[in-house]
Amino acid sequence: MNKTLPIDGQFQLMALPYATDQLEPVISEKTLEFHHGKHLQTYVNNLNAALEGPEWEGRALEDIVMTAAEGGVLNNAGQILNHNLYFAQFRPPCDECEPAGELAQAIAKQFGDFEQFQQQFEKAGATLFGSGWVWLSTDDNGRLHITQHANADNPLRHGMTPLLTMDVWEHAYYLDYQNRRPDHLKALWQLIDWNIINDRYINRQK
Ligand code: MN
Repeated sequence: MNKTLPIDGQFQLMALPYATDQLEPVISEKTLEFHHGKHLQTYVNNLNAALEGPEWEGRALEDIVMTAAEGGVLNNAGQILNHNLYFAQFRPPCDECEPAGELAQAIAKQFGDFEQFQQQFEKAGATLFGSGWVWLSTDDNGRLHITQHANADNPLRHGMTPLLTMDVWEHAYYLDYQNRRPDHLKALWQLIDWNIINDRYINRQK
């Protein structure tokens, strides 16, 4: 997978690959502005402040997430990595977009079909207690896994490559969906750019 390196010792806020109103109505401009411009920016600022000292110098975000002990560095690095993967996977709403390429075959083989996969994934997202993330990830053999991780945890820490994620912290959906987390998760499928997810799957061992 691609590594994220600091520039002059500072991690940067990722640039969104779309305009802030382009995910409407699934993710409103207001939610996106707060989520990316405030929440993610705060994690970036906090991590940069926490990384002072030689221990972490020049290390990639992914390496920090894989090796840091529980605590502030891990929490902020994990949240940056999770949000970078999350925001990079979207495109403007698309009604009938489905998995592409090798990943589509793996989903069909393991889950029966795309709909059954979606149901399992949504259920994992809806039943995650508290704040966290639901993931589709792959092991090195290409086998897929749907997992729930609390707070800022990431499949990388569990030996897997993250492919697709939905953020179930309330800040991700509360302005638009209030308590209706399952409705938000169902709507998010319209935004997934499956070419990006398939690229992550194909590049899992690189
Ligand atoms: Mn978030």
